[in-house]
Amino acid sequence: MIDPERLLELVLRYAVKTEGGEVYRRYTRFRADRWCGGIATADVVGCNLRCGMCWAWRNTSFVFTAGEWLPPGEVADRLRDIARRRGFEQVRVSGGEPLIAPAHLLKAIDLSAEYTFVVETNGILINRQLAKELAARPNAVVRISLKGATAEEFEKITMSPSAYFHKQLDAIRHLVESGMKPCRDVYPAAMLGFSTDENIKKLEKALADIHPVLPQCIDVEYVILYPHVVKLMKTRGLTPIRAVRPDGVPAFMV
Ligand code: SF4
Repeated sequence: MIDPERLLELVLRYAVKTEGGEVYRRYTRFRADRWCGGIATADVVGCNLRCGMCWAWRNTSFVFTAGEWLPPGEVADRLRDIARRRGFEQVRVSGGEPLIAPAHLLKAIDLSAEYTFVVETNGILINRQLAKELAARPNAVVRISLKGATAEEFEKITMSPSAYFHKQLDAIRHLVESGMKPCRDVYPAAMLGFSTDENIKKLEKALADIHPVLPQCIDVEYVILYPHVVKLMKTRGLTPIRAVRPDGVPAFMV
């Protein structure tokens, strides 16, 4: 089993530092991405999960020591610069888990106030306190990326204890209870590439138990069959039911 708490400790040790009262994280690149109609994107190093279909595993999510140390002000400046030049209305941090050392991201959100800041997170670190901090930021939209449709699928995908799947759902609950409007300020994404129809129904029910509107705004994710992702899935013994080729064409595996 992979322990997310241990991974968190390692990321905090090797990929986070505090200097002069500023929290720094490591970043490998800044880019304009087509996703979501165009979004300025920073790729951050370090994650507290090890998903078996992660597209970022080689360069950011599974590593600790790559990239350039940046304070939140520099991250916000670079994102805003890309957004301004490309005419985007949104910015985000991708590639790893952005809510490790949350003070860093919260400050970057505050310094990007003229843009919607999409917080793409696995949600595991969102407790009630952090949910309140996120809900207090009018330009923050939180996208919780669920790893599978059920706790069992989560365990298969991440090799981490299934209890963390419930933490992902709890994150959505905390954010809704903190005043974020479901489907507008907070919404679930879900990796359903390994999910049976029956399990997808279970997920819809679990989300409806948090708020009845949530099943209507699941952002469905499928595995993108990049060669390095296929290689990772092989080593983890994962075979998706549904996937997408790198050129965007759906690929049905079984
Ligand atoms: S949570 Fe996201 S970034 Fe982290 S390993 Fe999973 S897919 Fe990759």
